[in-house]
Amino acid sequence: MSISQIIKTVKKFYPETDTEMIQLAFDFAKKAHEGQKRATGEQYITHPLATALTLAELELPPNVVIAGLLHDVPEDTTYTLTDIRNNFGEEVESIVEGITKLSNIKYRGMDRYIENLRKMFIAMAEDIRVIIVKFADRLHNLSTLYALPANKQKRIAMETLEIYAPIANRLGIGELQSKLEDTAFKFAYPEEYIWVDQLIKQRTPAKEKTLNQMIKTFSDSADENKIVGFDIYGRRKHYYSLYRKLLRFNRNINQIYDLVAIRVLVDSVSDCYAVMGIIHSIWKPVKGRIKDYVAQPKPNGYQSLHTTVFGENHEIVEFQIRTKEMNEQAEYGIAAYWKYKAGEESPDSVKKEVSWVQDLVKWLKEVKDNEKFMEGAKIDVFQNHIFVFTPQGEVIDLPEGATTIDFAFHIHTDIGNQCHRAMVNNVQVSLDTRLKNGDVVNIITDKNRKGPNPEWLKFVKTRMAKQRIAMYKNQSWKNIITKFSKK
Ligand code: MN
Repeated sequence: MSISQIIKTVKKFYPETDTEMIQLAFDFAKKAHEGQKRATGEQYITHPLATALTLAELELPPNVVIAGLLHDVPEDTTYTLTDIRNNFGEEVESIVEGITKLSNIKYRGMDRYIENLRKMFIAMAEDIRVIIVKFADRLHNLSTLYALPANKQKRIAMETLEIYAPIANRLGIGELQSKLEDTAFKFAYPEEYIWVDQLIKQRTPAKEKTLNQMIKTFSDSADENKIVGFDIYGRRKHYYSLYRKLLRFNRNINQIYDLVAIRVLVDSVSDCYAVMGIIHSIWKPVKGRIKDYVAQPKPNGYQSLHTTVFGENHEIVEFQIRTKEMNEQAEYGIAAYWKYKAGEESPDSVKKEVSWVQDLVKWLKEVKDNEKFMEGAKIDVFQNHIFVFTPQGEVIDLPEGATTIDFAFHIHTDIGNQCHRAMVNNVQVSLDTRLKNGDVVNIITDKNRKGPNPEWLKFVKTRMAKQRIAMYKNQSWKNIITKFSKK
């Protein structure tokens, strides 16, 4: 790996860029870290280089790549943030400053975990690029984890699986998420890793043979049907996501249908559906396995059509069909955002895309109680999310297990306060009904209603609903007390 490789990669995506600045940042970092070694025995500069290369490959703008080269300078060398500002400007300085703040974690055990999370969220709200540099930094640290003592290996690997990867997932950066997970998995759960590795090695060769035949069959048919410019390839499920899925299916590999899958990339949405039609005309679909995340994207923005078919050689095979743009979004998520909005690099525009982060941060700045903080963070980031719809077709993102009341408060405080009845998919349901993916929810309000029922606290799920109901409850007690004291 070398700086010229990084420059080449940046230039590919940002042809106008002033590559001299990147070279200067490299020279600066190299001089600053002169004489320092990594635990592996390599020159320290190999680490910022690897970090910067990951960022360049994610197609992030040159300033972020430069920040990647300089990210350990203020902490580990005699050069300061001021030196960075003087040489590379305020924007680079601010990203590097954000990363430096993130690495100062004083506590141990549970407190360390919580402080880590808090800092990540605050950094995210301030500048999402800081988090992405941190992910790239972590990814290289994981790849050289073998050189560290065992207890450190375990801690860093667990922290990655519990904090970094879920955030990467929530930001829709699937590419980084699976790299982080697969590298950390080996150190976090070594025995389980070996088990999954063996399963994959036993199962995939036969599957891959089938896949290749099916790719051929499909491609011929797609040509006949005049689908032009499609890409098709087989892909194996990532280790850690396979592991997680196995745990959900009693460790039974026979119940996993997407160990390998065929991915078809096309130019347009209408081609997505046309391709699905072609697949179903060749192979019989498995009932209940057709998923349309194109019309109904996942909360993190993921879009794709999925279908599982009875394929050749009696193998059950999953197809994932999406446009090339959707594929970029699925792998790069928020990181892909800069590419589409070239010239508009301000993180402000990205902030809008992650309004849930803003919301969470606002709240956590007020919450001093660690237990409450964890509860909120768990619901907002680490829990599975569902998406439901308003009658107007607007997508609402809620945590799994959310009820009609959570939905009502999510739409507006007044709708929650005056919620009277709820219809789910045109059927009246009780207010404590748990919503499912894709439900269309209609709330009927009663303008005469004074406020929420405190009993709702027993079943609501979201922080917002809990907060609003509790607030009203306290408020109404205060009103009663004031009334009495006035008498
Ligand atoms: Mn580093």
